[in-house]
Amino acid sequence: MRFVRFACRGKTGYGVLKEDGNVIEIKGNPFSFFADGSQIQFTGRLFSLEDVKLLAPCLPSKIVCLGLNYRPHARETSQPIPSSPIIFLKPSTAVIGPGESIVLPRNYHRVDYEGELAIVISKKAHFVSREKAHDYVLGYTCFNDVTERQFQKEDGQWTRAKSFDTFAPLGPWIESEIDPDNLKLETRLNGITCQSDSTSELIFDTKNLISFISEVMTLLPGDVISTGTPAGIGPMKPGDTVEVIIEKIGVLQNRVVAHDSRQSS
Ligand code: ZN
Repeated sequence: MRFVRFACRGKTGYGVLKEDGNVIEIKGNPFSFFADGSQIQFTGRLFSLEDVKLLAPCLPSKIVCLGLNYRPHARETSQPIPSSPIIFLKPSTAVIGPGESIVLPRNYHRVDYEGELAIVISKKAHFVSREKAHDYVLGYTCFNDVTERQFQKEDGQWTRAKSFDTFAPLGPWIESEIDPDNLKLETRLNGITCQSDSTSELIFDTKNLISFISEVMTLLPGDVISTGTPAGIGPMKPGDTVEVIIEKIGVLQNRVVAHDSRQSS
């Protein structure tokens, strides 16, 4: 299934996107059904995809990201291959949906795209074994781990560099019926491919990551784990269009704007 979150005439809701392009509204949200193992229920309301605005497909309480989880990316940043997952957090306030603008900070030097496969957690996960890890997944979506590269170097840790508002584009929907461990991933800047790899190349795969992170912190429904970026990172400038494209999921497209052209504060 493809789970979407959408806005239509001032209201927001969750739904399932069907192959015919219609969105069937879900009663409440998909996570409540996973919590008690019941069947998803629908309101009976149907929307055409053209009539709704797709939003970020979930509202994570936290986004757990991976540093250096593809070998070529570790090499391009001149860093050793990690022996255990390197994790960091991005705040929920950085999330934007498909089609929304990435706003470059006022004092930015170099803001990079990082196309990544993201895991969306379905139910509370604490001390989950590798074998059971996928039982805690609602599905998978595209993520852009937008990063201010200069601040990352200056600060020695990554909070400022990774946390600006709009630095966590997520979407366009959550695909629940795919094998996450062998998907082609591409990032395109203004239509030109700059990252291209397969999730089969992840140093720590999705099961390992869920198990490892759930021993550190309790994962809540809607939380996102982003699995790291392949080689080919690079800077974006105002006016650019960036797309993260993952096989069997879809395309997450965002535009890049300068700070002062932001519509709302
Ligand atoms: Zn990243």
